Amino acid sequence: LDQPLFGGLPGDIAVSFEFFPPKSEAMAAQLWETVVTLAPLAPKFVSVTYGAGGTTRERTHATVARLVKETDLVPAAHLTCVAASKAEIDEIADQYWDAGVRHIVALRGDPPPSDGGRFAPHPEGYRNAAELVEGLKKRHDFEISVAAYPEGHPDAVSLEADLDNLKRKLDAGATRAISQFFFSTDAWFRFQDKALAAGITAPILPGIMPVTNFAAIRRMSGNTEIPAWMEAMFEGLDERPGPRGLVSAVMAADLCRRLYAGGVRDFHFYTLNRADLSYATCHLLGLRPVTGKTA
Ligand code: FAD
Repeated sequence: LDQPLFGGLPGDIAVSFEFFPPKSEAMAAQLWETVVTLAPLAPKFVSVTYGAGGTTRERTHATVARLVKETDLVPAAHLTCVAASKAEIDEIADQYWDAGVRHIVALRGDPPPSDGGRFAPHPEGYRNAAELVEGLKKRHDFEISVAAYPEGHPDAVSLEADLDNLKRKLDAGATRAISQFFFSTDAWFRFQDKALAAGITAPILPGIMPVTNFAAIRRMSGNTEIPAWMEAMFEGLDERPGPRGLVSAVMAADLCRRLYAGGVRDFHFYTLNRADLSYATCHLLGLRPVTGKTA
């Protein structure tokens, strides 16, 4: 009991951070403050999401282009197949390539929530992420990351079928997967074992979501198990953002600590454009700013 939970961690980890494109000047200022705060942790890359239904095409591009121009961070642009023909995807890919972007997170995407229902491909578009990876690779020699689902994608008939799909994406030219967020370490390690057994050797980065809004996490959770202890941990904190944030950072760091004990060294953080929780989590894991590394 007198062993500190985090005291001995040497910080020999690598991190990446995910942002979303801001909708307003105020949100852009907040994102930029977040970038400046997190940059000294020397992330391997930072990624910028693409709104559901392809709704943030311009804003994602503008955010990524600004990262290229004004920082020495390595940006990765998310791109989806939704509502775009192959020719349109080629055009977006060319714009990124010309702007100096070399890393794409290639996704199938979902229809915008207003459309509800299931994904339907554009008549002249890509039908899934594996096809998108193949198309992008033909166009330019991008580094490509794809999505993985430790607890299975809701459309998958089984975890095995989902892993076959992940393998198709890697065989098509992706070199890394980034996982959906999860809270059960058992689910992660089961998934890791199954992925290895399926012949997947590319790195799979766990997606870490420090919880800012527990009610929203419950809504968005899909296949993601929310352990009972987690429900209990957030009980009574809905109206107390201060304590909730502190609890969240410790819980995210504890999840990472257990993954670290199982050999994981690379972590991808869903920052939601806020620095504090991701920064505190990295700090608890022993990561410290690199002198002279700024945005
Ligand atoms: P795919 O890999 O194409 O697979 C989707 C499902 O279809 C899987 O169940 C798969 O098994 C099944 N499937 C695919 N191909 C076949 C086939 N040939 N035969 C049978 N089954 C098949 N969404 C956004 O809109 N914008 C983002 O920026 C974004 N970023 C994300 C980042 C990460 C790290 C993650 C994990 C998800 C992200 N998403 C994003 C969400 C993602 O777009 C959705 O989860 C989407 O429903 C699936 O995308 P995918 O790339 O995993 O699809």
